[in-house]
Amino acid sequence: MGPTSPDRRLDGNAAAGPLSELFAIDLTTATATCGHCGGTAALAAHDVYADAPALVVRCRGCTEVVLRFAADARTLRVDLSGARLLVVPRPDATAPALTEPTSSDVTSGT
Ligand SMILES: [Zn+2]
Repeated sequence: MGPTSPDRRLDGNAAAGPLSELFAIDLTTATATCGHCGGTAALAAHDVYADAPALVVRCRGCTEVVLRFAADARTLRVDLSGARLLVVPRPDATAPALTEPTSSDVTSGT
C-alpha cells in the first residue's frame, strides 16, 4: 500500500476540521495552488491521508504533497512548502474572490 493508495485516501474536507485549530476561519472554501504542477483547486478537492504521522493533503493532478499538518498537546505545525499559494476568502466577504476590477467598477464607484 503506497503513500497515495486509494484505500487510505479521504476527501479534502477531512483536512478542514483538524486545520480549524490553526486557522480560525472555515477552510473548506480555501483554494490552494500546487507548488509542483501549478494546479489550483479548492481544499475540498484535494486528497487527504489522515493516517500518516501528519495529516497529508495531496494534489489530485500530480499526487504531490501540497500541505502537511500535525498537532500534539503543545504545538500545531503546518508545512505549506508544497503550496505555491493558499487563498482563503474572508468570512465577511460579499464580493466574489479573485476577480480583477473592471473599468466599470473603477469609474462607477461613488
Ligand atoms: Zn499538483
